[in-house]
Amino acid sequence: MTCTDASGAGRGWRGRVIHRLWIRKCSGVVGVSGQRPAEPYDGTPVAALRRIAFLLERGRADSYKVKAFRRAASAILPLPPEEVAAAAAAGTLTDLPGIGASTAKVIAAAVAGEMPERLAAAEAEYGAPLTAGGAHLRSLLRGDLHSHSDWSDGGSPIEEMAMTALELGHEYLVLTDHSPRLKVARGLSAERLARQLDVVDAVNDHLAGSGFTLLKGIEVDILEDGGLDQSPAMLERLEVRVASVHSKLAMDPAAMTRRMVAAVRNPFTNVLGHCTGRLVTGNRGTRAESRFDARAVFEACAEEGVAVEINSRPERRDPPTRLLELARDVGCLFSIDSDAHAPGQLDFPVLGCERAEAAGIESERIVNTWRKSRLLDWARP
Ligand SMILES: [Zn+2]
Ligand SMILES: [Zn+2]
Repeated sequence: MTCTDASGAGRGWRGRVIHRLWIRKCSGVVGVSGQRPAEPYDGTPVAALRRIAFLLERGRADSYKVKAFRRAASAILPLPPEEVAAAAAAGTLTDLPGIGASTAKVIAAAVAGEMPERLAAAEAEYGAPLTAGGAHLRSLLRGDLHSHSDWSDGGSPIEEMAMTALELGHEYLVLTDHSPRLKVARGLSAERLARQLDVVDAVNDHLAGSGFTLLKGIEVDILEDGGLDQSPAMLERLEVRVASVHSKLAMDPAAMTRRMVAAVRNPFTNVLGHCTGRLVTGNRGTRAESRFDARAVFEACAEEGVAVEINSRPERRDPPTRLLELARDVGCLFSIDSDAHAPGQLDFPVLGCERAEAAGIESERIVNTWRKSRLLDWARP
């Protein structure tokens, strides 16, 4: 058997390691269980840990359940595979920082070429397709315009989001962490955003040749007067801007309409994020739609070439169907986004695709079916 090593040792960068494709196989190792032969597994321990985390996130498991797996993957990623194998053989994996009993079991099984029980369980519980529909439109999507990292309220580092998007086959992912006023979500000041842009450049340098690009973006708060919560100079430096309402969601409908139309008319706005702000399910409870003159807002979107977001998060399903159909009839562009706050949630867009297909929205009107060059031309102010 071969050991095709690609275990993912990448170059160090800001104390973290960005990894290339972690699909190196290392097999031919004698099983450790000593019982009935386990199902074979030909991935690396890092791949096993990441796959478990991905599946849990995709299934919207509590983030504390996911953290141990992501932490363990980060812990062993920089280590030479022989060192991990030696620790597994000696039963000393839990001596390594970041490795607990359950993650050690996953690593030991993967090193031995056996399917980790935890991974098999996660595949069984969360591995099924998220929905029956939407597959054709999903196959036409080239990227995702709305995602968060641990720089704001996401759960994973930028490079992990990028790597997962690449693995999902995306050509691009727009990193859209929150803007300063959203303090509960650790919104980025202009200074932090400027630093983040350097990190995005570094990630792209590392992924050069992969065919994937991490794009510079923001989910910028729409202020009460319709202004955008970031300086024009910073907005200018970005490639795609999603503008969303996160505060005063229950304001008077006429004022909300003025607020949203003003934001849509702002030349920097490319996408109107989760337009009603509703929550239909989930552990944050439910929340009613904001009230506004949807026709006026969507007509402004159509005139300005701003895409109405179809937010794929299961607890949002925003816009509601009647508004999705109105935006369709008004002639709007759309963007089908994950609004992922964890890598596994980057798989959500099929849910939005299912809704767009049901509404009969042509793929040509969905901006993230476009190639990157066309998307960037469209998004330029
Ligand atoms: Zn948002
Ligand atoms: Zn968001």
